[in-house]
Amino acid sequence: MTNLLSVSNVTKIYETGKRKVVGVKDISFCVKQGEFVSVIGPSGCGKSTLLRCIAGFEKTNKGNICLDGQKVKRPEPNRFMVFQGLDQLFPWLTLKENIVFAMKVVDKKQGNLEKKAEHYLELVGLEGFGDFYPYQLSGGMKQRASIARALSVRPKLLLMDEPFGSLDAFTRRAIHQMFLNVWQKTGVTVIFVTHDMEEAIDLSDKIIVFSKGRLK
Ligand code: ADP
Ligand code: MG
Repeated sequence: MTNLLSVSNVTKIYETGKRKVVGVKDISFCVKQGEFVSVIGPSGCGKSTLLRCIAGFEKTNKGNICLDGQKVKRPEPNRFMVFQGLDQLFPWLTLKENIVFAMKVVDKKQGNLEKKAEHYLELVGLEGFGDFYPYQLSGGMKQRASIARALSVRPKLLLMDEPFGSLDAFTRRAIHQMFLNVWQKTGVTVIFVTHDMEEAIDLSDKIIVFSKGRLK
């Protein structure tokens, strides 16, 4: 398997007024095509910072991030982030419309986007819910829909920042199983941030462990 992502000596320092806060320091690792990599560590150790740098939301102070040989400079749809929050979808659009909207923005070609949206909803176990609005869904269903929308733009890398952190234990278990199936079916490469060791062990091929931050 070839390397899809390489993170080399990445340091991110936040400057807020006169204070400098280390987000991450001197991080290096590679992710192969199709791998499921978890990043674990306590709160404040820089997990979200690392994902935001890979997404291109933050500029690094040092080091390089390359996806498929291209240096990451800004957000692009080849990397799609799914967050912990349960309100990531447009509330005034149905699930199908949310997905169609994302596909239209990324790919101007007009195919049968509605049919494609239905395919992605089915993939995450939401067949028949395309005409529902986000407020009509449970938390687990909202996260499934966010995953469907992310996959619909066919990113090379799916970045997930504690995506199941707001869900109860029963829902998490079901969504883990669903997500593993989706990962196997689509072959998408995943970087998955969590502070839950069990979740990381259950889901991933490889686990990157961050040590604690400066403050607890
Ligand atoms: P984690 O996701 O592991 O909980 P974060 O990446 O959010 O950790 O934070 C790592 C460190 O960077 C923390 O000390 C945090 O306070 C700091 N930090 C994160 N985002 C910002 C920001 N936008 N401005 C200043 N400091 C930040
Ligand atoms: Mg975080």
